Amino acid sequence: MNVMLIGAQGSGKGTQAQLLEEQLNLKPCASGELLRDAIARETALGKAAKPYYDKGDLVPDELVARLILERLQELDGANGIILDGFPRTIAQAKILDELLAQVGQRINAIIYLDVPRQELLDRLSGRYLCRAHNHVWNIKTHPTKVPNVCDYDGSELYQRVDDTSERIAHRLDIFFNETIHLIEYYKEQNKLIHVDGNQSIEEVHEQIMANLRSDLRLTSNDEYAAS
Ligand SMILES: [Zn+2]
Repeated sequence: MNVMLIGAQGSGKGTQAQLLEEQLNLKPCASGELLRDAIARETALGKAAKPYYDKGDLVPDELVARLILERLQELDGANGIILDGFPRTIAQAKILDELLAQVGQRINAIIYLDVPRQELLDRLSGRYLCRAHNHVWNIKTHPTKVPNVCDYDGSELYQRVDDTSERIAHRLDIFFNETIHLIEYYKEQNKLIHVDGNQSIEEVHEQIMANLRSDLRLTSNDEYAAS
């Protein structure tokens, strides 16, 4: 069983991926990490990707898709993979679908964590770190007891340049203008699970599991680490 998560930055995608990995015994398959790993291990694909990666250029889609296929061959007892970060465009999704079909595989379910843009902006732009230990706080969702002072060490809080509203708005624009098209693509394939991401972590996870159970007819064997 192979699952994919789609969600903007701040949607809780990483947290939900981790919960699914544990509950369904899936292997993480984040494209950035796959690339770095293949390059470090100097595999054939890693060597092919290295020149692009070193220059900061985009690694060709087919190469990334082949890395995903390679990961499918190294499951080490896992039930499948959980995709994150690739595909981002319909062109990439088509390449991946074709390559997967060639080895008799497919993505079984695509989960979209739907969080309104304004909520994402609020969550992300409220993020602050403390100067002493980089403890993470959020004015909106996880505030300190005393404003602008870390609860643990009393140091001052600051905001990373990447977390300023303009930068965040730009990243969200990219997601809502480009990646969002994938959702239509997978909807047409009847594989899309649309989840309201504006709930607690537990509620989102339960909604995902309920959908997977009915859509993929999961058995207790699939829910490996449920206990
Ligand atoms: Zn601190």
